[in-house]
Amino acid sequence: MVVGYSWYAAGLLKQLSSTSKGWHMYLHPVAKAMANLLFLPCLFFLAASSALAFNDPLVAGSKSNVTEDYTSPLPTVRPYLQGFVEETSWYNDLVLGPLIPPHLRSKIPHTAQTWLRNYTAGILIYFITGGLWCFYIYYWKRHVYFSKGGVPSKEPILLQIWVSMKGMPIYVSLPTLSEYMIERGWTRCYLSISEVGIPGYIMLTFLYLALVECGIYWMHRGLHDVKPLYKWLHATHHIYNKENTLSPFAGLAFNPLDGILQASPHVIFIFLVPTHFFTHELSLFVESVWTANIHDCIHGKVWPIMGAGYHTIHHTTYRHNYGHYTIWMDWMFGTLRDPAQSVKAKSS
Ligand SMILES: [Zn+2]
Ligand SMILES: [Zn+2]
Repeated sequence: MVVGYSWYAAGLLKQLSSTSKGWHMYLHPVAKAMANLLFLPCLFFLAASSALAFNDPLVAGSKSNVTEDYTSPLPTVRPYLQGFVEETSWYNDLVLGPLIPPHLRSKIPHTAQTWLRNYTAGILIYFITGGLWCFYIYYWKRHVYFSKGGVPSKEPILLQIWVSMKGMPIYVSLPTLSEYMIERGWTRCYLSISEVGIPGYIMLTFLYLALVECGIYWMHRGLHDVKPLYKWLHATHHIYNKENTLSPFAGLAFNPLDGILQASPHVIFIFLVPTHFFTHELSLFVESVWTANIHDCIHGKVWPIMGAGYHTIHHTTYRHNYGHYTIWMDWMFGTLRDPAQSVKAKSS
């Protein structure tokens, strides 16, 4: 750990001593140095200590209390875990209820219903979000957001939809697997905010989201830095390297394994941080909407949010703005490029 920390600190000091343009853009350099040196170790320390402090009833002997009854579509689990099964069954009722008659649905195993529900919801979210967003920016407010030739043509959009639809059955396996593990008590998810109190909920949720942000940054950066990963997986998403080839439908246009890897921090960190179950589900839902938003090429200028202005730069330079929701990680690790800087650089 000491060696790892020294290596980490040395790398950051080296980065700090380099004179990268605009590195003091958002905070005083001392604050940045402190953040660099302390942020990640603190985050992991907090996560580890919260895992010990919130010793909820899920931890002790959970596996031994799970019994599978293959004649029933619902898994039979001990009372606390039954709460998760009831909640996921309610989600299944909500989405699949109007589509599949009850007598047929009762024959489908619970986890298969969960996959089917996630698949149906994934397709609905993708087309409703992408469709409404495209209608708003390309037709209704076209004159506000795009100059002539700026609107993407039909071909890249149709290709993005095709790639996304091919990946969807595999993408939705990740939340399905996540729910499977939560229902069996393998994770640190809890059911109700009252179990940890509102301050505990806020702290734990912040910790979870910060770790997810960190995880997505490094996962994304790894997909660029490890050349075979880029070539075999991430290049599929980067064929859209000009502004007028990106659209909200590019949000899920990935190699399926790439999509799963980049979303996996949402699932990995529920094993470390006690996470409110519905908040975890919501984070996956928001993820699918957010990916549409960051591909519309419209710079929202909301600090410290990493919006489409930043992500468009990522698609055109390949070496900047790997982060997801915020500019934190890129700012800390020297890969941030601000859209305003880019405009200045182009015009000078
Ligand atoms: Zn990328
Ligand atoms: Zn992208």
